[in-house]
Amino acid sequence: RLRIDEELKELQAKVDSWVPPAEITVFNELPLSARTLKGLKSSHFLNPTPIQQLAIPPALRGQDLLGSAKTGSGKTLAFLIPMLERLYLDKWGPMDGLGAVVISPTRELAVQTFNQLRDIGKYHNFSAGLVIGGKPLKEEQERLGRMNILIATPGRLLQHLDSTVGFESSGVKVLVLDEADRLLDLGFLPALRAIIGHFSSGTQLSNTKPNRQTLLFSATQTKDLASLAKLSLYQPEYINCNKAGE
Ligand code: ADP
Ligand code: MG
Repeated sequence: RLRIDEELKELQAKVDSWVPPAEITVFNELPLSARTLKGLKSSHFLNPTPIQQLAIPPALRGQDLLGSAKTGSGKTLAFLIPMLERLYLDKWGPMDGLGAVVISPTRELAVQTFNQLRDIGKYHNFSAGLVIGGKPLKEEQERLGRMNILIATPGRLLQHLDSTVGFESSGVKVLVLDEADRLLDLGFLPALRAIIGHFSSGTQLSNTKPNRQTLLFSATQTKDLASLAKLSLYQPEYINCNKAGE
């Protein structure tokens, strides 16, 4: 316990005082926990991609983000890594309930994200679950009440949140909207609106910083994406790896 407290204090100081080096070539150069670095190494991830280099540091400090980078550029780890780190730095434990939710447009993407989380997060003590339907709602509910991290598709997640015995969602620290352009193409804007409403506490004033951090990732930028960003993000940092020459 004492050793962990010391490690967390040191790590938080590292995150707070971190100055980006001229060039980041390995994950070790980012202010990450030994557990996450070990998980990355054992999954053979050594060199962060550009979106990972740019998005991870501000996300570690708790900032909201809109990250754009083309398909295949490594956006999944750009949010999974800071999500794990934020829970770990907050001393989130298995008994602390739901702390992070990732929303994916399709079941297939949710499963891929879940598998990547299981790989790189295996040295952490968090429980993670998939919410993608295909099982009776009630059966899912019993299991989900104990999860720390959920990877979900919007329709199924909303069914749970709307249900009278829905799981507790007010403690969520990190909300990720992944492949946001696809979420919008598939017509999920109303569902996302409702989900964001559930995760925003009723007493929250619209111009104050929410307790929840929201990370929005997309391959492309559209007008609809700008309105989703406006709806979900608080003073976000914009990271765009799609610019010419990058
Ligand atoms: P995107 O969401 O931007 O389309 P993904 O997160 O799905 O991209 O990543 C695309 C592929 O690149 C995946 O197979 C993933 O495992 C791999 N990948 C991601 N980050 C790295 C990295 N830092 N080093 C090596 N491979 C990576
Ligand atoms: Mg992706």
